[in-house]
Amino acid sequence: MEHPENDKAYKGLKVNSGVESLGSVNPYLSQMRKKRAVELSVNDYVEGIRRGDVTVLSRAVTLVESMRPEHQAIAQEVIERCLPYSGNSVRVGITGVPGAGKSTSIDAFGMHVLSQGNGKLAVLAVDPSSERSKGSILGDKTRMERLSLHPRAFIRPSASSGSLGGVARKTRETIVLCEAAGYDTVFVETVGVGQSETAVYSMVDFFLLIQIAGAGDELQGIKRGIMEMADGIVINKADGDNVDEARRAAVHYRNALQLFPMPASGMRPEVLTYSGFFDLNIDKVWEMINGYVDKVKINGAFDERRCYQQKYWMYEAIDEQLKSRFYTIPGMQEMLSHHEQLLLQGKTTSFAAASKVLDFFDKSCNGR
Ligand code: GDP
Repeated sequence: MEHPENDKAYKGLKVNSGVESLGSVNPYLSQMRKKRAVELSVNDYVEGIRRGDVTVLSRAVTLVESMRPEHQAIAQEVIERCLPYSGNSVRVGITGVPGAGKSTSIDAFGMHVLSQGNGKLAVLAVDPSSERSKGSILGDKTRMERLSLHPRAFIRPSASSGSLGGVARKTRETIVLCEAAGYDTVFVETVGVGQSETAVYSMVDFFLLIQIAGAGDELQGIKRGIMEMADGIVINKADGDNVDEARRAAVHYRNALQLFPMPASGMRPEVLTYSGFFDLNIDKVWEMINGYVDKVKINGAFDERRCYQQKYWMYEAIDEQLKSRFYTIPGMQEMLSHHEQLLLQGKTTSFAAASKVLDFFDKSCNGR
C-alpha cells in the first residue's frame, strides 16, 4: 500500500517502503525466550533456588519485588519454604555518603572474600529513591566491574522506588532467598543519607561505615547518629597524597568513639584506613569484620541481635499493614476529609479528630 505521505501534498518528501524485518538469526534465541516465559510453580522456585540456579533466584526476587497480589502470594510461599535453609550467611551492611567509594570498595571486598574459598557472595541494596531506569542505582552491576563478572557473585540493585519499609522488607526477603541458594556472605549497600541506614542496620550482623578524609566532614556521622550504629569505621582512599590525612581522620574517629557508650555487643568499633581503588588493606578490613563476627558468635551477641531483628521486623510489618488497612477501610477517606474540614473550621482539635477517626476504624473492624 502506498504511504499517505507520498501524496502530492507532501512535496519533496518521498517515503520508501521499508525493508521487511528478517527472522531471528539465532533460532535458539526465540526458543530461549519462550522457555523463560514458562510459569514456575512454588516447587520449581524452591528447587531452583536450592540448586543455586541464578536464573530461578533472579526470577524469585522479581516476584518478591512485584506489587501484584498474585506474585506476592507465590513469593510469600517460596520465602516460607526457603526459611529453614536461611540464616547461615554473614550479613554485612555497608554505608557511606555518595562518592565515599562504596561500589569500588564492595568490588574489592567482594573479590577478597571470594578469593578466600569457594563461598558465594550476594550484593543487595536498599535505596528507596532509586529508579531502575537511572544510572545511579546502588548495587548496579556496572559499578562493580570485577564482581559482576564473577561466577560466584550475585548482584541485585535495590527494589525500585517505594516506601522505605517496603523496599527494606523486599531486601530482607531477598536475603532469605539468597541464603537458601547457598550465598554465605551477603552485602547490603545503602546510601548514607536519610533513614535507610536504620533499616539496613536492622538486617545485618555487621554495619560498616565508609568515610573519606579531607572532605571536612570527619565527624559528620556523629550528628546523624550513624556512628552509633557502626560496628566498624573505615576511611577509604588512603592512597597517594591522602594517606596522612586518612590516618588523621582515623584518629579523629577513634577519639570520637571513646565518647560513645559501649555497644551491646561488648565490642568497641575499630577504625581502619584502606584504599578500595588500589586494593590496599582490604584484607585488614575483612579480618576486622570476621574477627567481630567470630567474637559475637561466642559471646552470644550475634544470636541476640538476630532475635532482636526478627522482633523489630515483626513490628515493622505490623505498622505497615495497620496503616495500609486503616487507610483502605471503606468510608475512611470521607471520614478523614470530614474531620479535616471540622479541624480547619476550628470546630475540633487534632487530637479529638484523630480519636474520632480511630473510633470509626475500631467500629469498622468490629463490624467485620
Ligand atoms: P560510591 O558513590 O560511594 O559508590 O562511590 P564510588 O565507588 O562510585 O567512588 C566514587 C569515586 O571515588 C570514583 O571516582 C572512584 O574511582 C573514587 N574512589 C573510590 N575508591 C577510591 C580509593 O580507594 N582511592 C581513590 N583515590 N579513589 C577512589
